[in-house]
Amino acid sequence: MEYKHFSHPHNLTIHRAYELGKQVNCSGCEFPCDNTTTAVHACHQCNFFLHDHCANAGRYVKHPCHKPHPLILLPYPTYAGTTFMCNACGRPGNSFSYCCALCEFDLHVGCAMLPLSVTHRDHEHELGLYYGVQVVPRRGSNTDQEYCNICKNVLKARQWAYCCQSCEFNVHTACATKEVVAGLYQDDLTEPEVGQGGEGGGNVVEVELTEAELARLFVDMKIQMMAQSMATMGNIK
Ligand SMILES: [Zn+2]
Ligand SMILES: [Zn+2]
Ligand SMILES: [Zn+2]
Ligand SMILES: [Zn+2]
Ligand SMILES: [Zn+2]
Ligand SMILES: [Zn+2]
Repeated sequence: MEYKHFSHPHNLTIHRAYELGKQVNCSGCEFPCDNTTTAVHACHQCNFFLHDHCANAGRYVKHPCHKPHPLILLPYPTYAGTTFMCNACGRPGNSFSYCCALCEFDLHVGCAMLPLSVTHRDHEHELGLYYGVQVVPRRGSNTDQEYCNICKNVLKARQWAYCCQSCEFNVHTACATKEVVAGLYQDDLTEPEVGQGGEGGGNVVEVELTEAELARLFVDMKIQMMAQSMATMGNIK
């Protein structure tokens, strides 16, 4: 079966991952497509592949981490330099992003789909997702940094983290979910229990936007892109 996905100029065909006969990366989230029976959406001539959950990611979502505006799924960054910085993990991205152009707020698809809570074998309690770490200056410590309890590296205050608040056990999202595919844990169907999911709370909800709302978002985005290309031209001179 062939179909057209908005992110790619050619038709995509759907295969089982093992049928590809090679290890490929998803062009949406940049993570490997595991060699399993899960579906992969492919354009072979371009080496373009999408996980099933990335191909089916909603075009517009209301995300609890960014309440004022819906986030738009963009197939590639609209910023000059074609890279965005993810507001969740602080790392750059070159492919799909959930973007609020008004606020220059961007998320990797994988980060946008992180589960509200996870369990990790390094900690006995469930860890909740927090949209920013609470940095508590430790007594007797001359640093105001928090550290990841798994990899021991710095947790930046604005980075998302999984935390057990009662134990002050804080870890990078990537460290907590290394062995899981984040996207598979998106769950619109179950309401989180009260108090679960930390300050984050709430689910990612796909939204239908009216034509007027869409027009407004895209006008704002065009203005932003123009401003950026003008800034780039300014740099060249
Ligand atoms: Zn993917
Ligand atoms: Zn193609
Ligand atoms: Zn990210
Ligand atoms: Zn916004
Ligand atoms: Zn870590
Ligand atoms: Zn704990």
